[in-house]
Amino acid sequence: MRRLDLFRRPTLAAVAATATLTLAACGGSSAGAGTTTTQADEADCPGEVLDVVVSVSQWGAVVEQLGGDCTNVTTVLASSAVDPHDYEPTTADIAAFSDAELVVLNGADYDHWAADAVATLDPAPAVVDGAEVVGVEGEEHAEGEEHAEEEHAEEEHGHGGVNPHLWYSPEYVQDVAAAVTAQLSELSPDAADHFAEQAEAWETDLQPYLDELAALETAAAGRSYAATESVFQYTAEAIGLTDATPEGYRDAASNETDPAPGDVAAFEAALTDGSVDVLVYNSQTEGSVPEQLRAAAEAADVPVVEVTESAPDGESSFVSWQLSQLQQLSNALGGGQ
Ligand SMILES: [Zn+2]
Repeated sequence: MRRLDLFRRPTLAAVAATATLTLAACGGSSAGAGTTTTQADEADCPGEVLDVVVSVSQWGAVVEQLGGDCTNVTTVLASSAVDPHDYEPTTADIAAFSDAELVVLNGADYDHWAADAVATLDPAPAVVDGAEVVGVEGEEHAEGEEHAEEEHAEEEHGHGGVNPHLWYSPEYVQDVAAAVTAQLSELSPDAADHFAEQAEAWETDLQPYLDELAALETAAAGRSYAATESVFQYTAEAIGLTDATPEGYRDAASNETDPAPGDVAAFEAALTDGSVDVLVYNSQTEGSVPEQLRAAAEAADVPVVEVTESAPDGESSFVSWQLSQLQQLSNALGGGQ
């Protein structure tokens, strides 16, 4: 599935609760990254205001909410127009990292460019690495070992065996959020109560998402899905929806190699012989093969659920982004209204 028309992705405008400064226009970050910065409300912050840098938008919205009035949050890759794997940080990005008290990364080699940037900093900022927090590790690169570009170019959007889409796991999302709150409280102890309130508000906001997942566990029992890409895997596992994606295709997709014609044919057969209840379709990475599979699903009356790697354009809430996808799935499984 060589992604010739990679990333016909809609650009993502992160609209944070507080003042948002989009740096793209002022040349602060490379064109297309759409770097955003939210401003703290110093007057309302009971402690020291912290500068926080988040590598990718999937976590940016979460950190903004957890930081509340006491953080200036810069999200480097806030646009879905750029593949996180291919992203090369600009000097402005590196500078943002160097001014940060806290850096939040996804890890698992998903945003290796950010980990590389932080590794060069002395003194180093505090770091929350999502993959480390939840215990899934991408390929380790020995300290100082150069990342041979072709190594990553080869993989393109591949994930080399580890599924780095941590934000699709309800458990991982909560673990990473808790780690961020703990770090913020350590760095600004006088604002610890404020962060505790923000964490509580975040958990309250998350509840409809958790409730929908709980309801889906019933609807998903004994049902299966097949996916054009592995982004949704952790959510499917959380609700007990069986992955019926033909193995050959799944391996090719996760290693970012073109699925063999036989793999595509096997996928189409699974869509027409009733062994797949739902097609999970990543609408941010289109291409001839995914479109062919979508057509086969529609011809066989297999419902298609669209998911995205990062929040779609204009969607600044993690919860509403995820919830709308879960409701689609609930309807597809016949659980919805
Ligand atoms: Zn991915």
